[in-house]
Amino acid sequence: MQSVLILLGPPGAGKGTQAVRLSSALSLPHVSTGDLFRENLKLGTPLGEKARGFMDAGRLVPDELVIDMLFDRVGRADCRGGFLLDGFPRTVAQAAALDARLNGAQVRAINLSVADAAVVERLTGRHTCRACGNVHHERFSPPAKAGVCDRCGGALYQRPDDSRDVVEKRLAVYREQTKPVEAHYRSRGVLSEVDGARKPDDVYTALLRAARGEVR
Ligand code: AMP
Repeated sequence: MQSVLILLGPPGAGKGTQAVRLSSALSLPHVSTGDLFRENLKLGTPLGEKARGFMDAGRLVPDELVIDMLFDRVGRADCRGGFLLDGFPRTVAQAAALDARLNGAQVRAINLSVADAAVVERLTGRHTCRACGNVHHERFSPPAKAGVCDRCGGALYQRPDDSRDVVEKRLAVYREQTKPVEAHYRSRGVLSEVDGARKPDDVYTALLRAARGEVR
């Protein structure tokens, strides 16, 4: 049976970082709609051009664009056994479209919660590698050499949507449009809660247990 794991939670909760580890532990491909959009932006595709304005403003890209892009990705051979979603669904309409598409898959959603003040601190201090996507933080994980990625030597930059006012906007959008997605999965009995404010290793252990259905 196809196994689908969904990571919910505000921007900056650590979904991306944790998804990389979970993906390899659970042998599920990591599918991040934010990464897919950034790839399209980098390649200058028409989809990237359509998404750019929404992303830079901290708003959601319209559902139909996101859903088509996501379904295209999860329709590939590597997702046949299942996949791990990071950053999708972000609206109730996206969750309903995913339900209709999955039909019969084993779905588990985990809500990674982090307080607003911590989100602002995490995101506004974040420096992302242009080449490999690795993330440094000016306080929590500074690079050995300013502006240079420890992992690959690529140039670090601040994502335009990690500036303070855009982060505030993303949080407001999260509260209005994404928070209701939790109830969607809770009412189906497939939602677990994990406190994302703890140390990354502790969060990872809790996520792994929830993903394996060992705790609710
Ligand atoms: P992320 O890297 O997940 O924070 O995504 C970056 C940006 O991409 C978001 O602020 C949105 O503009 C857009 N985006 C990513 N995933 C979605 C989604 N599921 N629905 C709508 N917009 C999205």
